[in-house]
Amino acid sequence: MVNMYQEGFNIDSRLLKLAQDVEITNKGIMDGFEQTEEYNQLKIIKAMQEHKLSEAHFHGTTGYGYGDIGREVIDSIYAQVMGAEDALVRVQFVSGTHALNVALWSVLRPGDTLLAVTGKPYDTLEEAIGITGGGHGALSDFGINYREISLLDDGSVDYDSLKKTLEREEIKAALIQRSKGYGWRPSLDIEGIKKLIGFIKGFNSKTICIVDNCYGEFVEMNEPAEAGADLIVGSLIKNPGGGLAPTGAYIAGAKELVELASYRLTSPGVGKECGATLGVNRNILMGLFFAPHVVSQSLKAAVFCAALMEKLGCKVSPKPEEKRTDIIQAVKFESSEPLIAFCQGIQKGAAVDSHVIPQPWDMPGYGSQVIMAAGTFIQGASIEMSADAPIRPPYIVYLQGGLTYTHAKLSILTAVQELINRKLLNIE
Ligand SMILES: *Cc1c(COP(=O)(O)O)cnc(C)c1O
Repeated sequence: MVNMYQEGFNIDSRLLKLAQDVEITNKGIMDGFEQTEEYNQLKIIKAMQEHKLSEAHFHGTTGYGYGDIGREVIDSIYAQVMGAEDALVRVQFVSGTHALNVALWSVLRPGDTLLAVTGKPYDTLEEAIGITGGGHGALSDFGINYREISLLDDGSVDYDSLKKTLEREEIKAALIQRSKGYGWRPSLDIEGIKKLIGFIKGFNSKTICIVDNCYGEFVEMNEPAEAGADLIVGSLIKNPGGGLAPTGAYIAGAKELVELASYRLTSPGVGKECGATLGVNRNILMGLFFAPHVVSQSLKAAVFCAALMEKLGCKVSPKPEEKRTDIIQAVKFESSEPLIAFCQGIQKGAAVDSHVIPQPWDMPGYGSQVIMAAGTFIQGASIEMSADAPIRPPYIVYLQGGLTYTHAKLSILTAVQELINRKLLNIE
């Protein structure tokens, strides 16, 4: 085994020893994810059984996609698994950002106010809301107001400011982001989401609470819809796609709101009735079936990374022993040089495109340059082992995913080895 790492992947023997220590020390934490995996796996199988999932559902439609029984059963299974009344799971969503946009557009009308409760939303939503840019059909161009409650210094929700805003203004929709995204803050767990939604609804029960659930699915035993969210949104090339869904996203929640979302995605009057599935139903369903296991493998890898990098002197969030509600592991570096080296090293451990050297680039939708290591079977799928970092201080890399723990571990080792090779890190 040691030879395989050393000769096959040029991993230093001292680094291997360190990795072994990290695995032994953190075994309890790493094995701890299996209980949630077991629970969520059972939840998914139960939903599949109750909706009588069968071979006939795996065949796709073309053209308009009328009468696609596979698409319909996927919506029903997702709704049940997410603890929601209904769901809209579609390959016609090009990304999570697209689905989040559809969710916002489906409930907000001119004159309404959107309130971001967990600080600035994910980078790709800034232009869509009109926080930056605008003029290209952003929400702000249509007279939709935007307010934001910044997080407190420790990364928690600023309940005092929130209270003042809710007393002063009528809020049509509140946007809550579960995962840290590109931020150095603790992610918001289901308990925290429940408390937050309860607080908002206490001022106005009609405020629509939308949760960006990206990277959060199946990390806990419940999903935000069960914590009171009216709409939840996520990407199929992250957790719930289990690495097998080729593209797409989902919106789940209250029946009438999911219906509004379906009108926004397709057309009023058409809604959920159209949307060819082109033969991907089997992958979406198999991916969902695998998702709790893949998520659990990713979490194990995240803990391995956190413990190893902490041992090597980096600040990490969350720490190995901290409770997790998403699959993201943030690691802070002193400058852009080790940050870039780390991402390039992650790519070196990939099964796909390991010979490619990722570079920072102006990714559409992002405010600063971003480097993304994603040697993935599905382009850009971040449920697969991937690491990305906006090139701006504080220099933080966000690592997530791993279809198998072994692969994620290898990539983390090739990343650290890259730092050693470039003399950016000393492991003596
Ligand atoms: C990934 C992600 C999104 C959506 O990103 P896409 O790349 O467009 O799928 C939104 N919010 C958060 C927190 C995310 O992690």
